[in-house]
Amino acid sequence: MARRTPARVKKTAPTKAQSGKSAAKKAATTKAAIKQTAKKKAALKKPAPKKPAPKKPAPTVAARSKPAPKPPALKTPVGVKPAAPPRPSSTRAVDVPKPGTVPQSAGASPYDTPYIGAPLGAHVSTAGGVANGPPRAVDIGATAIQLFTKQASQWKEKVFTAAEVQTFRTALAGTPVGFTNAHDSYLINLASPNAALRAKSIESFEYELRRSNLLGLNAVVSHPGNFMDDRASGIARNADAITEVLERVDGPTRLLMELTAGQGTVIGSTFEEMAELLGRIPAALQSRVGVCFDTAHVYAAGYDLACDFDGVMSRFADVLGFERLGLWHLNDSKEPLGSKKDRHELIGLGRIGEAAFRRIMTDLRFADVPKVLETPKGDDMVTNDRRMLRLLRRFAYGR
Ligand SMILES: [Zn+2]
Ligand SMILES: [Zn+2]
Repeated sequence: MARRTPARVKKTAPTKAQSGKSAAKKAATTKAAIKQTAKKKAALKKPAPKKPAPKKPAPTVAARSKPAPKPPALKTPVGVKPAAPPRPSSTRAVDVPKPGTVPQSAGASPYDTPYIGAPLGAHVSTAGGVANGPPRAVDIGATAIQLFTKQASQWKEKVFTAAEVQTFRTALAGTPVGFTNAHDSYLINLASPNAALRAKSIESFEYELRRSNLLGLNAVVSHPGNFMDDRASGIARNADAITEVLERVDGPTRLLMELTAGQGTVIGSTFEEMAELLGRIPAALQSRVGVCFDTAHVYAAGYDLACDFDGVMSRFADVLGFERLGLWHLNDSKEPLGSKKDRHELIGLGRIGEAAFRRIMTDLRFADVPKVLETPKGDDMVTNDRRMLRLLRRFAYGR
């Protein structure tokens, strides 16, 4: 569906975005805004946060990711058609746009709660094509998105045409989204002792990385595999497979290995094991790998984010180091501490509770780390995510 989008969302100075006092004037500058002025008035009247904003800088994802993305390697042997170089804008401003600068669905703007910080968003559907992701981000008020570049539950690979790649980039450029990541297929098991399955996994993982590079995504999130036979051998197989693919495929997309809940023989449910896995990747590739911290997984794995947030974080800092933290998956957990079961719940309604999320949203150590929800969508794909993102933006202001 065609949408009216601004050519580019202007970077907003923190003080203006917080005060909102000039928003009404600004809104009157676009036709769309004029039409909707009455509707928006209520939203615009919302007072600025009473407390001064936390003294954080206005960070951008640039702080953690590599500089300008290089053009992806186009010697793609797997049938991906070459496309134009990636947009140079993955490091652009991530501030929430002023009211009136973003196309709106019915009701108040999903971006109506002030927020200055790293990109914040959710997993969005790419049903109907990957280019449908960015407008769905706008519908929920997201400045970060995670998406699948293919059917995550199937082996069949998606091969993008140059036109599909360009359409995605154009769609993304018209939004305030400042961080994008793919999540790879659930079938991939780079740690498998079964040679055929591991080879198939390596191929699928390579496709995923190539697709993400072509789209110009900031990161691919991947689950460590299941060792099946012997833990140490599994970790070695997993690290070797990652190394093999990263050496073959260069590009702007960073690989983020996700901490797991620890069910069965899965690798990566302790900080130590994740450190061992990443430590086996050669030094020359270290800048291209990092960690995705899923709060529900880590809690289910036995780290008590609810009662000992500081202890868990200092453990993470000691064992893995915050410089490796590339993304938060913000999910409450339906399952209890140490259950090793991975079931996500809406923020504040699960076993973790809202206090840990308030900490994450206000801790300056995480101020430039993008944050993405994977909480239950509900019936309409929009309402819950909008509500969750508003809630997290309020947390960021201590409200
Ligand atoms: Zn995941
Ligand atoms: Zn996750």
